This record gives sequence, C-alpha cells and structure tokens, in this order.
Amino acid sequence: MSLPHHADTIVIGGGTSGAVVAGLLTELTEQTVLVLEAGPDFGPFDSGRWPTDLRNARLLGTSCDGGYTSEATYPDRTVAFERAKVIGGCSAHNGCAAIWGSRIDYDAWAASGLAGWSADDLLPHFREANRRMRVRTYTADEVTPFQQAAIDAAVANGVPHAADLNDLDDPVGISASPVNIHDGIRWNTAFAYLDPVRHRPHLRPQLERVSGSCRLHARVR
Ligand SMILES: Cc1cc2nc3c(=O)[nH]c(=O)nc-3n(C[C@H](O)[C@H](O)[C@H](O)COP(=O)(O)OP(=O)(O)OC[C@H]3O[C@@H](n4cnc5c(N)ncnc54)[C@H](O)[C@@H]3O)c2cc1C
Repeated sequence: MSLPHHADTIVIGGGTSGAVVAGLLTELTEQTVLVLEAGPDFGPFDSGRWPTDLRNARLLGTSCDGGYTSEATYPDRTVAFERAKVIGGCSAHNGCAAIWGSRIDYDAWAASGLAGWSADDLLPHFREANRRMRVRTYTADEVTPFQQAAIDAAVANGVPHAADLNDLDDPVGISASPVNIHDGIRWNTAFAYLDPVRHRPHLRPQLERVSGSCRLHARVR
C-alpha cells in the first residue's frame, strides 16, 4: 500500500458528505486531505468510466449498491436498504430530490444553542450547494402528464399547491421537486466537489485493491 504516513485530515468514506468535506477542505485550506473510500472511484465526470445507471438520472442506480436487506431484522420479509458504495456515495444513485426543509426546524436548532444553524445562517449555504449541485426546478411546461395528474389529485384533496418547494416559510404543499439533474445526468457530490480539485498539482487519486476491497485515496497537499 502506498498510503501516506501523514495527513492533516482523513475523510473516511468519500460518499455524499465525505466528498463535500474533502473537496472544500482542499479548496479552502492548505491541509493534506486523505479520502478513504470503500467503493470504486470512476474518476471525474468526463472520464467515460461512470456506469450508465449511476449517470442517467432516469435509471435506478444499482451497480454499486451495497446489497443490504432487512432479513437480519425481519426474517419473514425482505426490504432492500439501498446504499451506494462508490465515490460520491448515495448521491451517485439516489432520487436527486434537492429540498431545503423548513425554517422552523433550523430555527429550533439555533434556539436550542446551535449557533450558526438558523435558517438565515444556512440560506447562503443552501444557495451555494444548489449552484454546485446544478439544482434546477422544472418549469410548468416540463411537468409530465403523470406528474400533473398527481399534483391535481392532491390539490383536489386539499393539499395546497406549492409555488416553490424550497420556500422555507411554506412547509406544506405539492409541486414538482427541484432536482440535482444536469442534462439528464445525476449530478453527484463527487462531480460537484471533487472534480474541481482533482487536477490540482498535489492531488493523487488512486484506486487500490487490498485484500479484496477497493479503497480510493486522494492525497492533497
Ligand atoms: C435509493 C435512495 C434514494 C434517495 N433519494 C434521495 C433524494 O431524492 N433526495 C435526498 O435528499 N436524499 C435521498 N436519499 C438519501 C441520501 O442520498 C442520503 O441520506 C445521503 O446520500 C447520505 O449521505 P452520507 O454522506 O451520510 O452517506 P453515503 O452517501 O452513504 O456515504 C457513505 C460513504 O462511506 C463509504 N464507506 C462506508 N463504510 C466505509 C468504510 N469502512 N471505509 C471507507 N468507506 C466506507 C461508502 O462506500 C459511501 O461512499 C436517497 C437514498 C437512497 C439510498
């Protein structure tokens, strides 16, 4: 193994949040950052190595699924517990709904003593995450007949139509979800946060096969 003997920060799991932490630390500091990821690293978006089911947001991503099921807890029924073992983690195979939540929840965190986590504190970060993740909201003429029928049925049954699901002050309503999909591509956090730093002079992403398990380590100085 050629793992470095020293790193200022070790990120264990280069998944959804790990890719963000590693990417931003690399961008914003001079730290050495070591990312240990149990799944494969298919390289940057334009490497041509990403499996179609992970790239294509219309497909359910299964090729890097961890294969967890519910049998151990509930022997009589099998429920799949999908988790992606790959750089970018579950953001590489999930449903791409990018929804911010409700003001009351974040403000409750701040009120309980979590300084810096109120809705107003978080808004700039949400906007920046949306920009990085290429989040878009469908226009009315992009809503499919099936989606429109679902929206109409909900409204007919008393659920208000929401103009913007990311309006923090409008916690109840139905609408097409904002999504981190760019030109049909599921835009995962490895594309959004690691790709911009992969070409830095001291970034050395490598895939190693050790005792049957793959580990990515990306060393950044
Ligand atoms: C099928 C599906 C659909 C979803 N749809 C949506 C959606 O539309 N909108 C939404 O907001 N959320 C959705 N979610 C939830 C969301 O994707 C997850 O909550 C989020 O991605 C979790 O991020 P994470 O960083 O905590 O973990 P993960 O993204 O799971 O990252 C964990 C990483 O750690 C790695 N790892 C694990 N063990 C080790 C180890 N021992 N050593 C090294 N690496 C290790 C894994 O391989 C993985 O890459 C969905 C989830 C799934 C499974």
